[in-house]
Amino acid sequence: MSNVTPCDSINTVLSSIRDCEQHFDRRPNSVTLLAVSKTKPIEMIENAYQCGLRAFGENYAQELYDKAQQLQLAGLEWHFIGPLQSNKTRLIAESAHWMHSLDRLKIAERLSQQRPDTLPPLQVCLQVNLEQESSKSGLAVEQVGELAAAIQALPQLHLRGLMCIPSQQDSEQGQRAVFARLHKLSQQLQSNGVSLDTLSMGMSGDYQAAIAEGSTMIRVGTALFGARARKD
Ligand SMILES: *Cc1c(COP(=O)(O)O)cnc(C)c1O
Repeated sequence: MSNVTPCDSINTVLSSIRDCEQHFDRRPNSVTLLAVSKTKPIEMIENAYQCGLRAFGENYAQELYDKAQQLQLAGLEWHFIGPLQSNKTRLIAESAHWMHSLDRLKIAERLSQQRPDTLPPLQVCLQVNLEQESSKSGLAVEQVGELAAAIQALPQLHLRGLMCIPSQQDSEQGQRAVFARLHKLSQQLQSNGVSLDTLSMGMSGDYQAAIAEGSTMIRVGTALFGARARKD
């Protein structure tokens, strides 16, 4: 398999995003494409950067850290989107720009403490488990307000929004229903005075539905870089 990603697949996804914005009455350019590069080689990321992408998502702390060391390009942003153990927080605090999968105060406190003063605050989203499956990570809906409030007291974190990873839905209607719940939760928090501007929702298989329901950042891997060999 070739390591080179032609700009073709990137441009296809970008124009599909712009079409969705128009079709669902979203503001032009209100949806950002986060390119999920987990398991993919550094050359693919470099190529995607040359095609114009700037934000890259990784699931493994060590992998994000190593890639960030190797690839230092102007304007490039690293987003951590996977589960994070407390013994790996330093890797993220020192090398990521964003963390989408925050769901515990202990992790938040460590990230804020370990974030170097020389870097801007880590931009964070709270991961919400909308389907109450105990096996999955993410906060229960009732817990979100409390963690959001606690994060506002942490100097080196900047709360930006909410994130979800819904289970596979049978229909676009089903997909939209889950995303609509995250949007509504975000609006409820905002009406309680929490300032949020990001909804991190939608992946290769469901980003159209996510854009329809207000996503501001879609996390797309397969549609840009092809299937992953390693399972995650
Ligand atoms: C892998 C991953 C993605 C990208 O999934 P694709 O289906 O390949 O687009 C998005 N978000 C998270 C949290 C992931 O782990």
